Amino acid sequence: MRVGLFDDPVFGEHDAGSEHPERPARLEAVRRGLRDGVLEMDLARLAPRPASREDLLRVHTAAHVDRLAAGAGRRVRFDPDTAAGPRSHAAALAAAGAVVDAVGRVLDGSLDRVFCAVRPPGHHATPDRAMGFCLLNNVAIGVATALASGLRRVAVIDFDVHHGNGTQEAFWRDPRVLFVSSHQFPYYPGTGALDEVGEGEGRGFTVNLPMPAGLGDGEYSRAYREIVEPIGRAFDPELVLVSAGFDAHRDDPLGGMALGAAGFAELMDVCLAVASGAARGRLVAVLEGGYDLDAIAEASAAVVGRMLGRPFTAPDATPRPGTDHLLEAYRTAHAKHWPIVK
Ligand SMILES: [Zn+2]
Repeated sequence: MRVGLFDDPVFGEHDAGSEHPERPARLEAVRRGLRDGVLEMDLARLAPRPASREDLLRVHTAAHVDRLAAGAGRRVRFDPDTAAGPRSHAAALAAAGAVVDAVGRVLDGSLDRVFCAVRPPGHHATPDRAMGFCLLNNVAIGVATALASGLRRVAVIDFDVHHGNGTQEAFWRDPRVLFVSSHQFPYYPGTGALDEVGEGEGRGFTVNLPMPAGLGDGEYSRAYREIVEPIGRAFDPELVLVSAGFDAHRDDPLGGMALGAAGFAELMDVCLAVASGAARGRLVAVLEGGYDLDAIAEASAAVVGRMLGRPFTAPDATPRPGTDHLLEAYRTAHAKHWPIVK
């Protein structure tokens, strides 16, 4: 198994503002997790090149790309919680470029899987604006790269505790992209309701799994095994991208979920199962949120360990009462488009 890791000092140069939870120490936490998990020597270390304007314009409007570029070298605030410092534009281009490069490497067969430990995160960035700590939608740009190179089916699985509204918006009408998101709901950014399923040709290819706060390994495991895995296998993507946010961890200060390391390994295991068909194992995972440093270290090790094929212990999948009801709601909403009837 050849697994690559994008990790570069430039990602630490994005400055979202002092006291901001999305801080460079998060990347140190990823490194610590990979080191403590004795994983780093098995990873091919990769250095990013900046994404090109052409790469960005596959997802973003020229106005958005120009607005970000105009902020290079100074401090700019895009919304109450999204700001850029002098080096943020360079970091954002490198983050998107890392995902573009990762997609290229798994498609040309030089690597099987890649983990992109990048900042700033991306999944809230819409085609025309920065929001929610995100400047460019790294994962969406990676998907668009794969589509431009001729792939017909690409899946995105987003397990960040927040809904990936930017990614959803980018592919809302596109049947070539299956977007699956599990997220706390209602919560920031407010989108991601069960009935948001895409429109036009893309109807059914957006799959939202809104979750009440408090769910842990057992509940997530059942939702991913019983809903995400069969939908993903039925779509049978040629490539899987994962929006790997670690803020559904039980210790995260922003999220209200209760995942532990075993749960994160289980989520990646389902992502790999979805990638086991036409994708032939090709998977690119990209860091999104996650704000408790020890949680990030633990979850990174769990996710990357699974990507490397390290053994893991499936979590105790005894879900709390009420989980059946939740899964039934998912089935009712999505069975029209996918084979998930019990
Ligand atoms: Zn998040």
